[in-house]
Amino acid sequence: MTIKLYNTLTRQKETFEPLEAGKVKMYVCGPTVYNYIHIGNARPAIVYDTVRKYLEYSGYEVNFVSNFTDVDDKLIKAANELGEDVPTIAERFIDAYYEDVSALGCKRATIHPRVTENIDIIIDFIQALIDKGYAYEAGGDVYYKTREFAEYGKLSHQSIDELRLGNRIEVGEKKHDALDFVLWKAAKEGEIFWESPWGHGRPGWHIECSAMAKKYLGDTIDIHAGGQDLTFPHHENEIAQSEALNDKPFARYWMHNGYININNEKMSKSLGNFVLVHDIIKEIDPQVVRFFMLSVHYRNPINFSQELLESTANAFERLTTSYTNLQHRKNSSTNLTDNNDEWLSKIYDYRQQFKKEMDDDFNTANAISVLFDLSKQANYYLQEQNTSEEVIQAFLDEFDQLGEVLGVKFASTELLDEEIEEMINQRIQARKDRNFALADEIRDKLKDLNIILEDTPQGTRWKRG
Ligand SMILES: [Zn+2]
Repeated sequence: MTIKLYNTLTRQKETFEPLEAGKVKMYVCGPTVYNYIHIGNARPAIVYDTVRKYLEYSGYEVNFVSNFTDVDDKLIKAANELGEDVPTIAERFIDAYYEDVSALGCKRATIHPRVTENIDIIIDFIQALIDKGYAYEAGGDVYYKTREFAEYGKLSHQSIDELRLGNRIEVGEKKHDALDFVLWKAAKEGEIFWESPWGHGRPGWHIECSAMAKKYLGDTIDIHAGGQDLTFPHHENEIAQSEALNDKPFARYWMHNGYININNEKMSKSLGNFVLVHDIIKEIDPQVVRFFMLSVHYRNPINFSQELLESTANAFERLTTSYTNLQHRKNSSTNLTDNNDEWLSKIYDYRQQFKKEMDDDFNTANAISVLFDLSKQANYYLQEQNTSEEVIQAFLDEFDQLGEVLGVKFASTELLDEEIEEMINQRIQARKDRNFALADEIRDKLKDLNIILEDTPQGTRWKRG
């Protein structure tokens, strides 16, 4: 297995080699839990879940850590506005996050650490940076001395001098240099706080990822990932903190996904074009949303629009139709072995092709094209008069496995004709047994599945609604 991935740090596609053979340590910056996630937050969740699934499919054991920022300025603001406390709001939106991303087919991380459960290690990390001369206390805040870290700017490919330009210390700021960033914030009156050597306060945003990555994954991780907007300053600052303290490379590969536009415009609060996952999945099959996100290479921008979603829904349906037709045909297939080997090797070739695309920097867009080719072949095979159960099963297995990598299921929830007839027979028997409660229950169940029954003197007829 040779996977290549684009590393933001070197700006090159590199052969992926984890530190420890067969094991991957992966850290993905998670959400600040003060609201429902929007479609822009869903993209990294889906993309890196797919990366993880493909690594697992390729035989790696993946330790996947993704944090929750459960205390920060936005949470404090939301708490004040709603008249609730910060932990209550965080808890509600962590639950909502799990619900949304699991609807989108994402697995839970191996660990989802929270800032408020890791304040002690964050304080230790900051103190160690002060002791090494990389940070200083100023009026209850603690700042990182950016100019002390010689390699600052290496991820976003900017020099410290370039960054200095245009940056100045605002009136009332306590930091010594415009580029210094906050590690610990002194609490204002009435704000949630923790005790620290520098007084009451709470951690800054960047330090949490450095501290939690170290605690859960060690000093050097394999893949660090997040949205492109996190490259600077967030990830640059994480590198400065971690490498200054540990004297080791922080992450070997940095992955960043592209932006999402809504109807060709940047998504922003002020434009009022925020699309919440919570809302969109009520209208559109979440599997279609996921499929849509993967239909563009993760590093490219993606445009989110109703039309594009509809065409994705149609395309996705072509695959589920192929799959359902294969399922239907399976029962009437024989053990015919005529041209089995030829078909089985064809199916195998498609799997190799899919892997080749995924090995090339997780090119899900091209991998999806391979699935459509596979479905065309399946449709072609289904035109044969006699089909072999073995070949049909091989097609179904291939759809299942490749679908699992992409986090979608092609199996339709629709009942097969035989299953419907079986339920109707059970209902007839229940009525004969004068078990009307059971008979009604079966009738209701069928009704929920959109199957309409009609009792006639000649027997029960049914149709799909
Ligand atoms: Zn982070």
